[in-house]
Amino acid sequence: MTGDWVVCPPADVLPPYARFVLELENGARIVLADPRALASVELLQPGAPLATLLGPDAVSDTFDAAHLRGALARRRIAIKPALLDQSVVAGIGNIYAAEALWLARIDPRTPAVDLSARDAARLVRAIRRVLSRGRDGSGRYTTAGAARLNVYDREGKRCPRCGTAIARIVQAARSTYWCPGCQVSPAPRAARP
Ligand SMILES: [Zn+2]
Repeated sequence: MTGDWVVCPPADVLPPYARFVLELENGARIVLADPRALASVELLQPGAPLATLLGPDAVSDTFDAAHLRGALARRRIAIKPALLDQSVVAGIGNIYAAEALWLARIDPRTPAVDLSARDAARLVRAIRRVLSRGRDGSGRYTTAGAARLNVYDREGKRCPRCGTAIARIVQAARSTYWCPGCQVSPAPRAARP
């Protein structure tokens, strides 16, 4: 989900980047304004469980390496945008995806389908670590842990692990910060012994 929900009085013009409009009986409209057009909207029958649209919560026991590999098995996209797909795993945002991939030493451009069982296990542990650091006592995510960010928003600064300059690339219209020195691509699946 990207963008914002905007409530529009009946006579108002739609806000810029209106992608989805829900008109109410009183004429007011609820508008999804999404400049990047990355949001998706699902229409459900009344009473349908929302959980079917979401992968397991990243901090739950059902999120493990087997689930992650299964969910990524047919994904040709890179691992970083795949981690932001809430149907793969719920609760990982852009900052945490970058930090978890750095912690697991995985190149964010790695095709999701090429993630080995060992990579997946390391990535799941890394995700748990960065999420637990980012949550405050009430379980909410905070930016209080920002001082401990290793790659996010640190383009050109030195990697705390290997000293290489942190790079920034754009994947699926989002910034990805990563270390070209110590985040490596696994060998393609076919090339592995
Ligand atoms: Zn590094």
